[in-house]
Formats: sequence, structure tokens, C-alpha cells
Amino acid sequence: MQGTMKAIVKTTAAPGAELRTVPIPSVGPRDVLIKVKATSICGTDLHIYNWDQWSQSRVNPPRVMGHEFSGDIVEVGRDVVDLSPGDFVSAESHAVCGTCYQCRTGQGHVCRSYSILGVDHDGCFAEYVAVPAASVWRNDPATPPDVASIQDPLGNAIHTALSGEIIGRTVLVSGSGVIGLCAIAVAKAVGASTIFATDVNDYRLGLARKLGADVPLKAGRDDVLAEVMKRTDGLGVDVVLEMSGAAPALKTSLTALRNGGRISLLGVPSRPVEVDLANDIIFKGITVQGITGRRIWDTWYTMRALLASGRLDIAPVITHRFKLDEFQKGYALMQSGSCGKVVLFP
Ligand SMILES: [Zn+2]
Ligand SMILES: [Zn+2]
Repeated sequence: MQGTMKAIVKTTAAPGAELRTVPIPSVGPRDVLIKVKATSICGTDLHIYNWDQWSQSRVNPPRVMGHEFSGDIVEVGRDVVDLSPGDFVSAESHAVCGTCYQCRTGQGHVCRSYSILGVDHDGCFAEYVAVPAASVWRNDPATPPDVASIQDPLGNAIHTALSGEIIGRTVLVSGSGVIGLCAIAVAKAVGASTIFATDVNDYRLGLARKLGADVPLKAGRDDVLAEVMKRTDGLGVDVVLEMSGAAPALKTSLTALRNGGRISLLGVPSRPVEVDLANDIIFKGITVQGITGRRIWDTWYTMRALLASGRLDIAPVITHRFKLDEFQKGYALMQSGSCGKVVLFP
């Protein structure tokens, strides 16, 4: 498709981003062009906006930002056979290589050379986005566009929560950012028992309760450990879903986990963290899991089924909606932390 479009572009190697008019991306033989209906701001986009150390080492401006979206296909490449114009789709933001050991053995989520939409190539904070057909996920047409745009973080949450037993188990969700909030909703939907949720932000603890947390606890104010022990007969929780990446939260989580329990780690610490391996892991006989991305495509099928079941309602995670042009308002909210998901509409 010829022409130009509006896009949010990381124009220079410095903090900030600009609304620009740029050419509509061209479509390679195995790509599809999608007209974006809704696109949501992720923590990754905030890192790039702020131009932190990680962004400086990874992103080459100018770059159209954004990787979470839903929209309609408007054009398909010459070699694309199973997708058509009009299909309502989203995309797995990690474009995996398909040929490495991991990709060839069903572990594409830990592909050795994947690239990320809006990070390594132009993203979806725009009116149109081109993505490889192999990364496209066909949505249920009944899913609202804003909800369909947040399947990346929802998929993270599903992958984390369902990486072990959870039905009838007590669960501590450590950190109630967007992925933590989604994890609360997932744990509730699949039948966890008492769900504890922590955060440092009152607004997010309010959302945690809305999404199904039985015991929201403010880290730094409430005695998280004492509350967990009181409500689990001194046993500790069966499962911890660590979403914060904060060292003190990790320490509390490991102490609050019962002997033989499971901790799944998705939150990324910004520097190495000290852990008491002997007392907190080995002698307790716990299982520690590193979680990254979404299982391709297992997590997406599970997600579709959970959304279609009607038991999983993640709409309350979305707290703010803006036009694409108003993206600065979205970033400011994200910086403040007093929001759930912020969705932009081109
Ligand atoms: Zn994301
Ligand atoms: Zn690979």
C-alpha cells in the first residue's frame, strides 16, 4: 500500500519520542500489513522512551515504537497462504528464528536469535504495521480490540501462572503491575484458593482487588510475611508469581513460600540479586522457574480458550484510553505508576 501514516517514532538517541508522518511500511513476500485498531504501552516502551541503558545498547533510531496491538489485515505478501485481508489479528511480538535448537524442539519462547517488534524493527504505534505472517495470531472476532491488544502481557501472566499446579493452591502475586494484575485474574479464573497480591502503589492494589486478589498488601507498610503466615496456618503460600524484580520483594517471597512450593520468576531485576540458596531454596526443597515471553503457540491457545470461556475478564486492567496523538499523556501516566494498561487508538 502506498502513502503515509502517523506514527510515534524514537527519532534520536535521547529521551522522548515524536509523532511523525512516515511512509506506510512495505510488505515482504512473507509479511502482512495490518491496520492498527488498538495498541498498548508496555514497560519496554517506557524504557525506550526514557532511553535507559538497555535501550541504548539495543535500539537504533529512528524506530517506530510499540509491539502490543490488534488490527485488521489489509494486505498479504505474495507467499502468504493462510491469512487474508479482513482477518482480525494480533502478533507474537517475539519473531523467532525457527531454525535454532530451541525453535526446532518446541522451545521457541527461548529462541537464541529472536527479534522484537518496535525494538529491532518498526513497531505498531502507528496507523499500519507490517509483521511476518509467521508471527500473526488470528483473534476471536468477538474480542474487543483493546483487550486483544494486551495479549502480550496477558500471555506472560498465563505462562507464569500455569507453569505448575495452581488449582486450589494459595498464591502470592508479588508486584501488581499489568502482568501481575493479569496473573491475579488468571489464578482466580482457573481456581486458585486465597490470592495475596503486593505492590508499593495504592492505585494498583485497588486494581488488584478488582481483578480478584483476596488479600492486597502494601509492601513497605503491611507486614506481608505475617499476613501470609496468619492466613495459611503458618505454612506459607504454595505458589509465588514474582512480577516485581525488586530484591526485597524476592526475599519476602522466598520466605513466604512454603517448603516444597513453587516460585516462578518473571520480574527482571536491574542488577544481580543476592539469594540465600541454602536456607531459602535448597533446604526448603522449592522449585524455582525462570519465565520469559510466552510459549509459542501453546500459551496463545490457552489464552484464547480462557478469554472465550467468559471466566477470565481482564478488561479492568485497562484503565486509560487515548488517541495515538495523545501518547505523551500515556507515557506520563506510565511514569507515575498510577495506572493499569494504557491503550492508544490510531
Ligand atoms: Zn509488552
Ligand atoms: Zn530460534
